[in-house]
Amino acid sequence: MAQFDVTVIGAGPGGYVAAIRCAQLGLKTAIIEKESRLGGTCLRVGCIPSKALLESSERVYQAKHHFQEHGIAVSGVDVDLSVMMGRKDKIVSDLTSGVKLLMQKNKIQVFEGMGSFVGPQKIQVQAADGSTQEIESKSVIIATGSAVIELPHVPFDGESIVSSTEALAFPEVPKHLVVIGAGAVGLEMGCVWSRLGAKVTVVELFDRITPFADKQISELFLRTLKSQGLSFMLEHKMTSVQKKDGQLTIEVEDKAGQKHTIEADRVLVSVGRRAYTDGLGLDKIGLQTDKRGKISINKHFQTSVAGVYAIGDVVDGPMLAHKAEDEGMAVAEIIAGLPGHVNYDAIPNIVYTDPELAMVGQTEEQLKEAGIAYKVGRYKFGPNGRAKALGQTEGMVKILSEASTDRILGFHIVGPRASELIAEGVLAMEFGASSEDIVRTSHAHPTLSEVIREAAMAVDKRAIHG
Ligand code: FAD
Repeated sequence: MAQFDVTVIGAGPGGYVAAIRCAQLGLKTAIIEKESRLGGTCLRVGCIPSKALLESSERVYQAKHHFQEHGIAVSGVDVDLSVMMGRKDKIVSDLTSGVKLLMQKNKIQVFEGMGSFVGPQKIQVQAADGSTQEIESKSVIIATGSAVIELPHVPFDGESIVSSTEALAFPEVPKHLVVIGAGAVGLEMGCVWSRLGAKVTVVELFDRITPFADKQISELFLRTLKSQGLSFMLEHKMTSVQKKDGQLTIEVEDKAGQKHTIEADRVLVSVGRRAYTDGLGLDKIGLQTDKRGKISINKHFQTSVAGVYAIGDVVDGPMLAHKAEDEGMAVAEIIAGLPGHVNYDAIPNIVYTDPELAMVGQTEEQLKEAGIAYKVGRYKFGPNGRAKALGQTEGMVKILSEASTDRILGFHIVGPRASELIAEGVLAMEFGASSEDIVRTSHAHPTLSEVIREAAMAVDKRAIHG
């Protein structure tokens, strides 16, 4: 029987990063993955294909709506959806093959099949052809990720009532796409298909989109998305979907209980993801999940079973690829006897639309609720020279710092390239920086990052340009 120091179950960003770090630290490592391609949800049907389509569709939108401002005349912008999808698929296959190469380079043994516990240190791998083998491992890291949530009253049909996986590969542009849920995935997919010509209606139970974001930022974000043609039905709940001759009648209910119907040809249900432990045989080792189906761990990623660890979407915390990666590195270091650590106060959260929304730390509402006295600095992209050159002047940076110490507690951006700009806020928070530290840091001119410095100056009401 093959024997390892560490076996990782699941080769998503949490699992494959953990495996590489274990191997780097001299541990004999195996990884088990049930899908034929490594990289998990993120690479196969999540972060990467969605960003590829966002990029392509944004080019279409720019060509149709903004090239003229630059004096570039284009007529009849045609989209060959199959080429666009092919580009996306190639990016996915390049990256998933890259993970395979990384496994080889780091001498990590890859087992293709479904992993399930026989005992705490013994795992069975069942290949697609039904054949099985068992491996023994001193430590096991569960990194089995998550799966889409299916609403019981609206089951997916894989064609017109779909999850994000199918919405990444529609064979043609929907006429009317209804998106249920205004979180990151719903908004990103809604923007992709809207830019490609679909009418898009987003239905959201809460009174605002991206409910995790700072309220002022999410309200500004909503206004800009509306101006691009997306429609929103906030405080509405989807109650049923009827399908007839390929057409959908979606019934929604407003907060007063009034029912409305929407006719559409596709509905994307993006109401979140659930921890995935199906077929893992947790009962064989006496491990139970919590009421949300997640695996409970302590600060060292240890489950209640000695030698069994868990990381990523399958445990508590934001369901994000970089959070899973951070945990993957930390758990490997802990298993190797080093002090692995994740700072959960400094994990960024991003929506990759245009403008993008990016945040790290606490919102104004959270600070108020916690009774923490704070200062706030805001600055808009409008006056920034680089934003003007880009033709992307919508949005703002908002920095929240502790009133008594000026330590940054929250960093919020809605605007161009927010996904890249947020790195400054994350680093600042990781180093316990104050808004004054940002003010004293030279920011190149002309760059979008100058908006961050102005927002930091605005914390003490001394923004130079406004
Ligand atoms: P996963 O990536 O889900 O990987 C788990 C792996 O385990 C899978 O490959 C699965 O096949 C395998 N597995 C499960 N059970 C077994 C078993 N018993 N035996 C063997 N293998 C098993 N996050 C971001 O940070 N940024 C984004 O831009 C972003 N965009 C997203 C867009 C979409 C459309 C979606 C759906 C998600 C997006 N996410 C994004 C979320 C991100 O994909 C997840 O947070 C991330 O993949 C979690 O990593 P993980 O390693 O915990 O799990």
